[in-house]
Amino acid sequence: MSEFTNPTDIARETLRLLATRRIAPTPDNYKKLYQEIAGLPAAPASEAEQVLEQLAQDLRDRPNAPRSAGDLEKAAATKDWQNFRSLMLELLGSQADKSAAGAPVWAHLVLELIKQWEARHTGLTHARKRESLEKVLSLPGTDASKLAKKLQNLVKSWSDTAPATAGGSDAPTAAETPGAAPKQPQVRADGTFTRADGTVAAAGTPATDIPAVGRPAPLAAAAGGEETFHQLRELLAQTLEFAVVSQLGHAPDLAEEAANLAKVARAALDAPAVTALTAPLRQFWFQLEVRGGENSELHQGLLRLLRLLIDNTHDLVSDDLWLSGQIAVVQDIITRPLDSETIKEAENRLKDVIIKQGTLKNSLQDAKNALKQLITSFIDRLGTLSESTGEYHTRLEGYAQTISKTDDIKQLNVVLQDLLQDTRAAQVKTAATRDELIVAHRQVEAAEARVHELEASLVKISGLVQEDQLTRVLNRRGLNDAYEREVARAERTGEPLCVALLDIDDFKVLNDTHGHSVGDDALVHLVRVVKRTMRPSDVLARYGGEEFLLVLPSTELEEGVAVMTRLQRDLTKAFFLHNNERLLITFSAGVALRRPGEEQAQIIERADQALYKAKRAGKNRVFPA
Ligand code: GH3
Ligand code: MG
Ligand code: MG
Repeated sequence: MSEFTNPTDIARETLRLLATRRIAPTPDNYKKLYQEIAGLPAAPASEAEQVLEQLAQDLRDRPNAPRSAGDLEKAAATKDWQNFRSLMLELLGSQADKSAAGAPVWAHLVLELIKQWEARHTGLTHARKRESLEKVLSLPGTDASKLAKKLQNLVKSWSDTAPATAGGSDAPTAAETPGAAPKQPQVRADGTFTRADGTVAAAGTPATDIPAVGRPAPLAAAAGGEETFHQLRELLAQTLEFAVVSQLGHAPDLAEEAANLAKVARAALDAPAVTALTAPLRQFWFQLEVRGGENSELHQGLLRLLRLLIDNTHDLVSDDLWLSGQIAVVQDIITRPLDSETIKEAENRLKDVIIKQGTLKNSLQDAKNALKQLITSFIDRLGTLSESTGEYHTRLEGYAQTISKTDDIKQLNVVLQDLLQDTRAAQVKTAATRDELIVAHRQVEAAEARVHELEASLVKISGLVQEDQLTRVLNRRGLNDAYEREVARAERTGEPLCVALLDIDDFKVLNDTHGHSVGDDALVHLVRVVKRTMRPSDVLARYGGEEFLLVLPSTELEEGVAVMTRLQRDLTKAFFLHNNERLLITFSAGVALRRPGEEQAQIIERADQALYKAKRAGKNRVFPA
């Protein structure tokens, strides 16, 4: 209930509050305040007032709200309509000025942006351009004129960057080069475009540089074009499905998008549907390019880091032979073109080396401890010897003094007796110590030899001594380790394991006819084909001159024979060329399934016998053992 009841008091209080609250003394404000003080319900706002209040709120809520939006809202809330009017006029004036002045700026800016986006610049990938563009576009609270300024700066920074040389799209086009005939479709200012054959197409005809997809209508119209069009569409779908999706294991979102695009391509039965595919396809390529750029930068960066680390480590540990051997393996791999097979192979090799070195290092430590123990006791013995001989010498001196001072024969006789006794005791002690020293010395020598032996083993297994230099597959020593590992695994899992021995047919003839280096190339060629066919878990080793051995884990005999037969087919299909002449290389092979507990030598012997039978039966065959 209001404390003022008298209208004069209410009027006076209203005026006082208008002044203290700094409210504009408009009739509306007076009325509102009067009603508040008198405790009367507020008069409902008129419809026009409600609309204006709403307008002020809407303006404030817009993403690029004008700065005066807050003042407008306040003016509406206090019903200060005069102020509202002038604020509104001000706002409309500035917007009109801005848009009138802004249009040409934007048109020019967009054109320049497109030009610089398409141009190639040294060290400025599309991914980088996209990143900086997104950054500028997402700056908060930027109005149109500020945004234009920022974009201008960005575009200028691109155009100031040196152009990329080879293949740069900022090179003049054929149309811009005087006298050159246009080879690619050229878009003209009026929207028409020149086709590759020089004819001019009307404005609105899709002008695009996507050959098969962008121009389906003329293709479909030509004789037999319908079929070509469908073939091309199917080809696009298949390329996306089989070539693109399979390459995108690292980016499942893009792989899914490629699969979807393939579906859409297949379902696009007419020209407009195919044309509609253009935009999503371009968008997809763009993403692919961005992601590809990022991945390859990442890859290159990691490789540089690894090289730096390895080179540095190599300098630091050049004395440590067993460690530098391992580093040489990694160094060798990262200087060659990388492929996952070599990396996997090196990983297996390093794992073997690490396990072996672990055991060897323990034995080496034991041997070193034993050696230390021996040397300590050796020194102790030497100490006792010199102690006892020292004591003996002191006593001798004592006897000599007694002898020089006395003439008493009786006393001399006593001295002589003592001397003899002491000498005998010293002799016994010296001989015993001497024997002990000899034994200790022998033990030290043996321990030293063991340490040397262990150190030599460490050096040996850490180096590249397990690899054949010509074909870069395992040599026999490498095979032994890999075979042991695979047999241990087979015994643990109870899975079958096959060994296949292959020998090139008439290799001597090839060498004699074309020369030894062609023979060498043929060996490398064979290895390349085998590696393409074999599974990552299979092991390939050069067993002798032109003999190779394959260890096939988880493989039954029949399967092993099938693998080798398939390999024969692959080898006849893969051309081996010398002086543009195709040389046919074949091999014979024997395959054996490992029997429980069978030794390596035995199973290889059985495979060799089967191989011999294959040779006898006319070569180019595979026989089971
Ligand atoms: P078969 O079909 O019975 O196996 O006959 P072959 O001629 O292949 O077998 P043979 O054992 O008579 O000859 C093997 C030849 O392989 C002889 C040897 O000079 C050659 N050879 C061995 N190692 C190498 C090598 O590393 N490079 C080259 N080019 N030739 C090699
Ligand atoms: Mg042979
Ligand atoms: Mg041979």
